[in-house]
Amino acid sequence: MNYKIVLDAGHGGDDPGATGNGIIEKNLTLDITKYLYDRFRDLGIPVKVTRLTDETITPTERVNRVLNAYGNSNDVIVISSHINAGGGDGAEVIYPLRNNNVLPNLILNEMSKEGQNIRGSYQRRLPSNTSKDYYFMQRNTGNTQSLTVEYGFLDSTKDDVNQLKNNYKNLAEAVVRAVTSYIGVPYTPISGDNTYIIKGGDTLYSLARQFNTTVDELKSLNNLTSDVLSVGTIIKIPSGTTPTPDSNTYIVKKGDTLYSIAKNNNTDVNTLKSLNNLTSNTVSIGQVLTLPGAVVIPSTENQYVVKRGDALYSIARKYGISVNDLLTYNNLTSNSLSVGQILNIPIENTNTYTVKSGDTLYGIARQFNTTVDSIKSKNNLSNNILTIGQILTI
Ligand SMILES: [Zn+2]
Repeated sequence: MNYKIVLDAGHGGDDPGATGNGIIEKNLTLDITKYLYDRFRDLGIPVKVTRLTDETITPTERVNRVLNAYGNSNDVIVISSHINAGGGDGAEVIYPLRNNNVLPNLILNEMSKEGQNIRGSYQRRLPSNTSKDYYFMQRNTGNTQSLTVEYGFLDSTKDDVNQLKNNYKNLAEAVVRAVTSYIGVPYTPISGDNTYIIKGGDTLYSLARQFNTTVDELKSLNNLTSDVLSVGTIIKIPSGTTPTPDSNTYIVKKGDTLYSIAKNNNTDVNTLKSLNNLTSNTVSIGQVLTLPGAVVIPSTENQYVVKRGDALYSIARKYGISVNDLLTYNNLTSNSLSVGQILNIPIENTNTYTVKSGDTLYGIARQFNTTVDSIKSKNNLSNNILTIGQILTI
């Protein structure tokens, strides 16, 4: 099988997930996902993500992004990263009823090698229909091997808070080892090509310069608490600091500006901003930017990001609309498109409804001449709670 990986950073945007002890789930799941993304990409494994920014994604949209990445067959491995809360301790993996526990247990075994406590892997059934998975990330993800990885509890009274704050990269690396072993791709440790043996005269500053990184990054990668180096020590060098030529992402380094990054990658600041959902020109060291040409999953159901090879005609056909509609809707005066350009798609809103303040499922059902149950099942809602801005399929 030719395995592909889809990474999903749990929560995001308006939905922070669990919070506590200085940990915000949506941010940590994103950090973990970025780490995984770089590692799988460096290992040459096809990998896509549902989000690389702090973005609000409805469950329906999240599932769409998963399925749009590589389709829904079982050679697609989905790693949905989450941080647990509720007073337990240790890592757990939830896997679909259609799968076995081989990969989940490989992941947990590797995590235990990194010092994390293990709670186990399990499946969970929907009480109202026990032939179905309880969680939408398992239930609505086709035949993919869609795993929810809970790295630990942010409210643990044991060592999980420390694991999550100081060991999360190693826990993510454990996932990399497990997945490569499962899919039969040779695993190269980050400390293989990416190590350096300290020589006389080396300083953190000279090494940072030599390897195109920063002193802080070197220190955090190696858990160094001081600037003192001893000759002969092996230290880790960040793997993402030397982007591969065909890479569609760029990791921001010290001194970079959006302008310099745009110039070096033959694009412009506005394209970079729209591709990465940036609202300002500020970038931070270590931030992962998507570059034009990358496979980008549109940020809303009504937008489409132009990919290499796209034409107005092919895009119009994809959405069952006319080229003229597309031109008018986007105020375009010519047929030429540029990679990374975002097109608004004039999708008739007969099939979707955006929840407004004061809406109830009952009211919406009445308005569209349907039933609460039908809306819930179409949108995989497990309760009647709606959030403003949520997009419902009717
Ligand atoms: Zn979560």
